[in-house]
Amino acid sequence: MPLLSLSHISKSYSEPGSGNVVPVLRDISLSIAEGESVAIVGPSGCGKSTLLNIIGTLDVPDQGEYSFDGTSVSGLSATDLAALRSEKIGFIFQMHHLMPQCSVLENVLLPTLALKIKPAATELQQRAEQLLASVGLKDRLNWKPAQLSGGERQRVAVVRALINQPKLILADEPTGALDEKNAESLTTLLLDLQKTTGTSLVMVTHHPAQAARMGRTLTLHEGTLLGAGT
Ligand code: ADP
Ligand code: ADP
Repeated sequence: MPLLSLSHISKSYSEPGSGNVVPVLRDISLSIAEGESVAIVGPSGCGKSTLLNIIGTLDVPDQGEYSFDGTSVSGLSATDLAALRSEKIGFIFQMHHLMPQCSVLENVLLPTLALKIKPAATELQQRAEQLLASVGLKDRLNWKPAQLSGGERQRVAVVRALINQPKLILADEPTGALDEKNAESLTTLLLDLQKTTGTSLVMVTHHPAQAARMGRTLTLHEGTLLGAGT
């Protein structure tokens, strides 16, 4: 059984001003297996973020079926969706979105506050320290985001996405604000962590070199998937 599958998903937006309905995703079907790494590529405006947001249950499709980890997402209440997200999905964005007033360690532990069943505080602390050490930030636990470099901040965001041991990591252009060297090492880091933790990784990127390193590439063109989605 795949980790997630989308079946005939469509999504439109009404254009501000004119009210015209503009289709963004058209009849998308795809499956992603446990432990798989997938790149989503395509020109700006083709619907990559919209697709990622639907996979992350942040956005709701107009049509089609979405099932995640054996559950039909369309049947879930907002509360259940929030619980599913915090337990099973880790998010990374182009901007790190770290809380400036919190330390590195506090930032990493923030997603654990949303868990319904929380592991012991000592276990969470240990998990955070281990993950931070694995991304080279062992000595930065008590630093504030502003004291870190851009690459370091994004590594903290990666650890924050992993802290609840999700089944899926969704990354929307995570290297978009980094220089080439930092972008490459962040992708390496994500792929290493994806392999060691066995989580699935779906990454939107417009860098062909980063996409080529993922297990599979999905190409979106005007809201349609080119080639086979499964
Ligand atoms: P990409 O990530 O590939 O650049 P997006 O998924 O962000 O593409 O956007 C696809 C299209 O959907 C764009 O034309 C964008 O303007 C439109 N769109 C995205 N979100 C909204 C929204 N909330 N309301 C109206 N239009 C939107
Ligand atoms: P980047 O080129 O990635 O933006 P920076 O010049 O911001 O890198 O940071 C380079 C190094 O200096 C990093 O290791 C970072 O931790 C350290 N650093 C940056 N700002 C501060 C600060 N305010 N206090 C202590 N160390 C800092």
